Amino acid sequence: MNLDQQRRENKGLNSQLRDNLKSIQKRISKALSKSFHPNRNVTLIAVSKKQPLEKISALAGLGQIDFGENYVQEALGKMEALSHPGLRWHFIGGLQTNKARYVPGKFSLVHSVDSAKLARALHNKAKSLDIVQPVLVQVNLAGESQKSGAAKQDLPELAEVILELSHLRLEGLMLMPPFFDDPEKARPYFAGMRMLGRSLEHSLGVRLPHLSMGMSGDFEVAVEEGSTMVRIGESLFGPRPGGKLT
Ligand SMILES: *Cc1c(COP(=O)(O)O)cnc(C)c1O
Repeated sequence: MNLDQQRRENKGLNSQLRDNLKSIQKRISKALSKSFHPNRNVTLIAVSKKQPLEKISALAGLGQIDFGENYVQEALGKMEALSHPGLRWHFIGGLQTNKARYVPGKFSLVHSVDSAKLARALHNKAKSLDIVQPVLVQVNLAGESQKSGAAKQDLPELAEVILELSHLRLEGLMLMPPFFDDPEKARPYFAGMRMLGRSLEHSLGVRLPHLSMGMSGDFEVAVEEGSTMVRIGESLFGPRPGGKLT
């Protein structure tokens, strides 16, 4: 490819990403205006797993700050390779306890804590770095056997464990609802998470400001029901190379 072709291609990529970003921001604002706390902030997390560096870099160049990744090694590699200052990385994937030590200090927020064992592993590393690592607890609200996330009935105990760990800060809950073709069907799960968050706040006497919920197919419904962070991949970046793996 010669330089002119390369320039044209970059321009095409940039304008496509800019259009996607604007359209999603607009849809978030509209959903927010319909929700009962329309003045809150909703953070758009660009889920960049499996996406090439040039797209991530182009999106960062358009002002996108928050990026979400599912795989530790892939994420650390991207952090090294990208020179944009001030990006915030979110760890949103399933995390094995033996990989936990790579995460504290590298990610602004870990969305996927789902066991006391994992919480303790993250805490140990955060303590050795002398930092406080913000975390969310992922909840498996529908009790789907193949999905990660803490069971609803185990949530109060897990939250209490985390609150005892001085180098973790519990900031809220994360949900991946069952997959539906019609996002309206996910609405009860989003509403259920909001209520679960409220009831935990009351029973534990803490503030849990964040609900991480909503993906490409259902984020508007999630925002209407109280989401403060949406995690959007393919609607923003286009299809993931190598398919729909999560
Ligand atoms: C992949 C993934 C997303 C984004 O999914 P899209 O359908 O591409 O928007 C969000 N959250 C988690 C946990 C993911 O693994």
